[in-house]
Amino acid sequence: MKVYLDYAATTPVKKEVLEEMIPYFSEKFGNPSSIHSYGRESKKAIDVARDKVAKSLNAKSQEIYFTGGGSEADNWAIKGVAYALRNKGNHIITSKIEHHAVLHTCEYLEKEGFEVTYLDVDDNGLIDLQELKAAIKDNTILITIMYANNEIGTIQPIKEIAQIAKERSVLSHTDAVQAYGNIEMDVEELGVDLLSISAHKVYGPKGIGALYVKKAVKLHPLVHGGAQERRRRAGTENIPAIVGFGKAAEIAYEDLQQHNKHLMKLRDQLISELMVKIPYTKLNGHPTKRLPGNVNLSFEFIEGESLLLSLDMVGIAGSSGSACTSGSLDPSHVLMSIGLSHEIAHGSLRLTVGDFTTQEEIDYVIEKLPPIVDRLRQMSPLYEKVKGDTKNV
Ligand SMILES: *Cc1c(COP(=O)(O)O)cnc(C)c1O
Repeated sequence: MKVYLDYAATTPVKKEVLEEMIPYFSEKFGNPSSIHSYGRESKKAIDVARDKVAKSLNAKSQEIYFTGGGSEADNWAIKGVAYALRNKGNHIITSKIEHHAVLHTCEYLEKEGFEVTYLDVDDNGLIDLQELKAAIKDNTILITIMYANNEIGTIQPIKEIAQIAKERSVLSHTDAVQAYGNIEMDVEELGVDLLSISAHKVYGPKGIGALYVKKAVKLHPLVHGGAQERRRRAGTENIPAIVGFGKAAEIAYEDLQQHNKHLMKLRDQLISELMVKIPYTKLNGHPTKRLPGNVNLSFEFIEGESLLLSLDMVGIAGSSGSACTSGSLDPSHVLMSIGLSHEIAHGSLRLTVGDFTTQEEIDYVIEKLPPIVDRLRQMSPLYEKVKGDTKNV
């Protein structure tokens, strides 16, 4: 049996999405900037896709800019605001548990003379709104806090964060890549100025994403050269990907309730059964303010990498908190920020369910995982000492 439980890393392209993309590789190949019928056909396809993405966010079509993915959207939002508002101020506020596309961009800007505050999070991964308020200074230009965390699934109070920013005339951005397609999303209601999304996390193609930029927000262009994306991101558009993203966006919000119901049922089953069957297990992330498909567990006395390899041998694909940046031995910055010790962070496993996950697959994981954890623990000298006691931590 093969079981894919890494939907937070990427998702397969849905059949309906792929079908809409295919003609735009060959028959419908015109350059959207051309004025002839070939060009117009491609331009029309982009317009339709942009409308669909805009609709999924309750944004206006002119506020949607296609990018080469979520990382690019994050980079652009942060650098674009920083460079556009350089004369107004140089201070940016973010959190310690952001995706690297945000964290490394902020670190880069620090080298460029900007000042960045990295807010702490509590044990569940939530930022403190009072701390956020206190961090705002006269030179603060941007607050960028992720909507939902990719490792532990915790959902931040983005509406409140945007409100706090607005009261102090500071722009707000959110990396909504994980939240998109899992949470009802209305940019008007949220009140954010910028928001990043990516297609391949919602059953669309890789290498395409979008940045929502509220009307009148000043943003430095990303790529100079042409008139594409309202002169802010030059380059001939990736039309098949854009078309696929449009379709994926449409499907994602067609039946969000049903999607969430399916994911939450499987997620809750994994969490509750694994925690009962495996002693010394801790759930990471918020118990309720949590993405519908996210399970993140720490098993004491084992090493996440060996667990992943053992799971892979029985066909189960998950992800661990230890080598998020492959080649690095440091545990994930997210797990460290919620207060886990190095040892416990190293024994973490993220399983993320999606639209194609079945009950049979979940039953299979619940059957296979406990004996694997037990076998790995038998090799641990620390476990030897506490064996016999089956209290959960
Ligand atoms: C996947 C992800 C990204 C990066 O998106 P890409 O399209 O892969 O560049 C950014 N932020 C979060 C929270 C993500 O999960």
